[in-house]
Amino acid sequence: MEYIEELKAVLGDKVLTENFERFIFGADWSPRTQKEIFPPDVVICPRCTEDVVETVKIAYKHGIPVTAGGGLTGMAGGAVPIHGGIYIDGACMNKIMEVDVANQTIRTQSGATLQELVDAGKPHGLWFPVLPESKWSCTIASAIACDNDSTFGMKYGKPLNQVLSIEMVTGKGEIIEAGHRKARFSASGYKLKDLIIGSEGTLGVITAATVKLEPVPEHRHVDMIIFDSMGKAVDYLNNILKAGLIPEGAHINCKRRLKFYTHAYKEKHGHDPEIPEWAGSLLAIIFAGDKDVVDFSLKKAYAMADEMGGQLIQEREIIDNWWISKHTLDFPAFKQKWPASQKVKKFGAADPGIPMGRLEEYYDIFVETAEKYELDILGMNAYLEHPGSIGFSLSCALFVNYRDQDEVDRFRKYFEEMSKRAVDLEGTMSTYMSDTDLKVPYFEYEHGLGAEYMLEIKRLFDPKCIMNPGKKFTREKVLGKEG
Ligand SMILES: Cc1cc2nc3c(=O)[nH]c(=O)nc-3n(C[C@H](O)[C@H](O)[C@H](O)COP(=O)(O)OP(=O)(O)OC[C@H]3O[C@@H](n4cnc5c(N)ncnc54)[C@H](O)[C@@H]3O)c2cc1C
Repeated sequence: MEYIEELKAVLGDKVLTENFERFIFGADWSPRTQKEIFPPDVVICPRCTEDVVETVKIAYKHGIPVTAGGGLTGMAGGAVPIHGGIYIDGACMNKIMEVDVANQTIRTQSGATLQELVDAGKPHGLWFPVLPESKWSCTIASAIACDNDSTFGMKYGKPLNQVLSIEMVTGKGEIIEAGHRKARFSASGYKLKDLIIGSEGTLGVITAATVKLEPVPEHRHVDMIIFDSMGKAVDYLNNILKAGLIPEGAHINCKRRLKFYTHAYKEKHGHDPEIPEWAGSLLAIIFAGDKDVVDFSLKKAYAMADEMGGQLIQEREIIDNWWISKHTLDFPAFKQKWPASQKVKKFGAADPGIPMGRLEEYYDIFVETAEKYELDILGMNAYLEHPGSIGFSLSCALFVNYRDQDEVDRFRKYFEEMSKRAVDLEGTMSTYMSDTDLKVPYFEYEHGLGAEYMLEIKRLFDPKCIMNPGKKFTREKVLGKEG
C-alpha cells in the first residue's frame, strides 16, 4: 500500500508490517470471539511527538484510520482498530521528561505507565495517586483517554482531577497543548483539556502530559467492614464524611463479589471464611497520612461502624489478600483474583454511574438483567471516585465465554440494557471505559441533542474521521454519509 511505503520512508524501522506484529494489536481485554479480532494493517512504534505528527500527516493525506493504544487492557474495545489502518503503539513513548519537586508536577511522554510515574516521584517523596489495578500496563495517555478509576479515588479522584496539561496531535497532524501548564486550574479560554479527558483517542493522539504529584503518605491502613446491605455502607460513608474524616479510598462490594475475593482463602483452608449470613456488602476502606491521624480516624471509624451494625472483618488474611490483589498484583493474590474459571470464561463488565441513593435499586437491576440474559454473575463493585464525596463508578461484572458467539452477543445486550437503565436512574452509561463502538448505537440515549454538538467538535479536531474511527460515532455519521 502506498501510504505504508511513505511511512517507511519517513519512519524506517519504527514501521511494523509482519502478521505476527500486527495481530498482537487486534484485541484488548474485552470479551470478543476470534472473528471479532481486528489487526491493523501497520503498526507504528513512535519515539517522539514528531514521529506521531509525521504518521498522522500521511494518514490525513490518504484518509487512513489511526488508532492509538497503550497496554491494551481496555475492557470495551477502545483501542481495537475496528477499521484497520494504522495502530500507534503508544507504549513506545515512555520517557519521563521532568519531575518538578518544588511544584509537585511531572511531565511525561504519553506511554509511561502509571506505575512508572509513581516510581519517578518516589525518590522525592511524591507519587501519582490515580492508580487502577492495571497500573503496571495502563499508560498515562490511556488513563486520560478513558478517565479511568483509581484505588485512591475517594481522596484524589480521577485523571480529570489530576491532569494539568495535555499535548495532543490532532486529526490534522497539528500539535496542541491543552491545559494550564503547572497551574492547578484556569479560568482562561475553553476547557480543551477536559474535553480530551475521556475522548478515547477520537480527537487526536495524546503525546505528552503534565500531571500533579502528591506527597507519599507516611502510613496507610486498610480495613474491611461487613454491612447488611450496600445502602447501609453508603450511609456509613456519608456519616464518615459528615464527621470530617477523609478516607483515601473506599470500595463497596456486593455479597457475590465478596465470595470472589475469598476464593484464595477457600483454596488454602479448604473452607470459606466465617462471614455472617446477614452480610449484604463488604466495604473496603483506606485511611492514610500521619500515623496519629490514621489511628484517630480508625478509632472513630470503628466506633461509627459499630453504631450502625457494621462488623469488622477479623481475619487479616482476607483483607491483606484483597489489598494485594487490588494494589500490588503479587502472584498468589492475582491467582485469587482470577479463579480457574478465567481459563474458560473472561471477565466482562458494564461501567455505569448512578446517584448515591440508588445503589440498592441498581444492584437489583444488575442481578435481574444478568439472569435475563443467562450470564454468570461475578459481582458488583462500587468504587468511590469523587474526591471528598460519594460518587460511584460501578463495575457490574460477569464471566463471559469468549469462545461462544451467542454468549458474547448476550453479554453485549446485557451491557446495553445496564447502560440505559443507569441513564433512566439519572446516571450515566460510562464511568471508566468510555463509549467505544459498543455504545455507539445508543449514544443519543444519554446525550440527546448534545450528541450533535459533540459531533461538530469531533469534526473540528478530526475532519476526515481518521482518529480511532467507529468509537463514539460511526465513521459514516462523522463524514455525513449515513443512510
Ligand atoms: C486486570 C485488569 C484490571 C483493571 N482494573 C481497572 C481499574 O481498577 N480501574 C479502571 O478504571 N480500569 C481498570 N481496568 C481497565 C483498563 O485497564 C483501564 O481502562 C485502562 O485505562 C486501560 O489502559 P491501557 O493502557 O491498557 O489502554 P488501552 O486498552 O490500550 O487503550 C484504552 C483507550 O485509550 C486510548 N488511547 C491509548 N493511548 C492513547 C493515546 N496516546 N492517545 C489517545 N488515545 C489513546 C485507546 O485508543 C483506547 O480508547 C482493568 C483492566 C484489567 C485487564
